[in-house]
Amino acid sequence: MKVRGDFYKGIIGGYELARGCELCYPGAKAVIFVSGACDDSCFYCPVSRGRLYRDVMFVNEEPVSTLEEAVIEVSRMGARGASITGGDPLAALDRTVAVLRALKEGLGQAFHIHLYTTGRQASIESLKVLAREGLDEIRFHPVNTKFLKAIEKAKNVGLEVGVEIPIAPGLEEWAIKVISEASSRGASFANINEMEFAEPNAENLLARGYKESRLRPFTVEGALEAAMKVLKWADRNSKIPVHFCPAPFKDSIQTRNRFKRLAELDRAWYEIPTKDGTLIWGELRGLTHEIGEECRPGSTCTPPDIGMLKQLALKYGAKVYIVEALPTRSRLLVSFQEIL
Ligand code: SF4
Repeated sequence: MKVRGDFYKGIIGGYELARGCELCYPGAKAVIFVSGACDDSCFYCPVSRGRLYRDVMFVNEEPVSTLEEAVIEVSRMGARGASITGGDPLAALDRTVAVLRALKEGLGQAFHIHLYTTGRQASIESLKVLAREGLDEIRFHPVNTKFLKAIEKAKNVGLEVGVEIPIAPGLEEWAIKVISEASSRGASFANINEMEFAEPNAENLLARGYKESRLRPFTVEGALEAAMKVLKWADRNSKIPVHFCPAPFKDSIQTRNRFKRLAELDRAWYEIPTKDGTLIWGELRGLTHEIGEECRPGSTCTPPDIGMLKQLALKYGAKVYIVEALPTRSRLLVSFQEIL
């Protein structure tokens, strides 16, 4: 049994992870929201209203409108792979294929790409096209178990195949059924995700009697325990590895590592990366003399050296701020603190 550090022991399952997950952990995968097109309406859908069923494309948090922009944004974070998601990427097959081709052509065949789909539209023809364009791994989120038939088709065209499903109280038997059937149809792995409790799905979840966990904010109460039941079953019965992905893992590890990577690679000379994946710098406003380059309207930016900033403020009659922001293109503010 291969284990990757204490975090994985007993929680994630202890087996070797799928390649797509391996790259996700250090934040080396870009998340490509290829389109909001989807033929389903899952009660637990966590996709925001600004994206679901809309013809929009994002790379991580950034909206993009062309393939070129998408490849540039993926390169900006030095990604070694990408996950294509939506919506259902197969409900926007032409765009999905175009993105796949652009990434493989621009970043090389070794750039690892996995894709999530319900399987509703996974015809042999569409799977062949995806395999031909170099898709490395496909993960089925079978909103109906009859869509699991697509696993055999995907295997037949040479794709690595897994299933990925949400887990919450009451879904344990369904999860076990999906894992068992996926295994007998030739899937290589199964991931179960702790169900998120977020703004887009809160109303639906409450209507079904689910509550937000008090101990684990933004997750469904009891989802962790439900996952443990499935993992216990899997330990004794599953022929394929079953991993559990806790919801906080996304924020506390995966997203933070992705931001850390981006902050290191895409910082200006005055921006200092932090251990949380943010950037910090100093800003002078209201200068009586021009002493440097304007980095934001009305601001001159410097490294966040408080002693130096205070001296400059006194000399040039400026206000001084320490700014912390996420390394998004627009530098989304985390804090803006006046120090003089
Ligand atoms: S298939 Fe996915 S995107 Fe579509 S409604 Fe269900 S969870 Fe949301």
